[in-house]
Amino acid sequence: MSDVIEKIIPVNPFIRIPIDDLQAARDLISDKVANDSITIDTSESPVFIDCGGNLESISCPKCGAPISFEVWGELMDKAYELSFSDLDVVLPCCNSKVSLNDLKYNYECGFSSCVISVLNPQITIDEDLRESIESLLHTKIKIVHAHI
Ligand SMILES: [Zn+2]
Repeated sequence: MSDVIEKIIPVNPFIRIPIDDLQAARDLISDKVANDSITIDTSESPVFIDCGGNLESISCPKCGAPISFEVWGELMDKAYELSFSDLDVVLPCCNSKVSLNDLKYNYECGFSSCVISVLNPQITIDEDLRESIESLLHTKIKIVHAHI
């Protein structure tokens, strides 16, 4: 049996959210959405928040060309050497300088130094709940749908 994890992260990869705010958001989600567990993870620098088996393709946000997993892996390795402190890369397709965070991931992925992971939520996080989470975290969020 496979599991679904909804990973809630700020849109801005470099923002730091106080742990109290993350816990308040976790408590709210816990109230509204039946789930198997909710965990909070934080790190010193951004990490890649992946969508697990849902990652089918990656493409360039400027010209739309597909980016192979091999090319992407090399770009990721280079950025990782700097602990993802600088996510800007030059893409080989059109020489555009873009953030690894802004590539078109199908499904959505992102970078963040904090994540709230909801394991097997019984309902989807709707717009109302999303807005409530955003006001608790004082920032815009995105939700990465992971399949493991
Ligand atoms: Zn391109």
